[in-house]
Amino acid sequence: MADCIFCKIVSKEIPSKPAYEDDRIYCFHDLEPQAPVHVLIVPKKHIASTDDLEPEDQDLMGYMVMKIKDIAAGLGLENGYRVVMNCGEDGLQTVPHLHMHLLGKRKLTWPPG
Ligand code: AMP
Ligand code: ZN
Repeated sequence: MADCIFCKIVSKEIPSKPAYEDDRIYCFHDLEPQAPVHVLIVPKKHIASTDDLEPEDQDLMGYMVMKIKDIAAGLGLENGYRVVMNCGEDGLQTVPHLHMHLLGKRKLTWPPG
């Protein structure tokens, strides 16, 4: 999608620090990390948010979720981690390209703010 910052990151128009990539998803380090490890996992296909998912995206979403443990292991998160998906205004989603935050390497608190 033309004006989407994460589409531009996927296409390497905007630089990022990669953590994992394959033909369907890209994982890169967050610019403003909220934990010692904080990466974003995005589908290469532009989907604005979880509210915009279509039945045809089911396999892709399953694929993303199944990849979490491999990406987490690659980042040394053997003691656990948190996965967050913000959606919409109340969810404080700031970038309208669906993404999972993967955070770890510190004891996280609960509930989140
Ligand atoms: P959200 O608020 O859930 O939409 O998360 C968007 C995340 O994208 C935030 O944690 C930002 O720090 C991060 N972010 C925004 N622009 C970039 C960028 N160019 N490279 C890496 N992370 C970014
Ligand atoms: Zn996009």
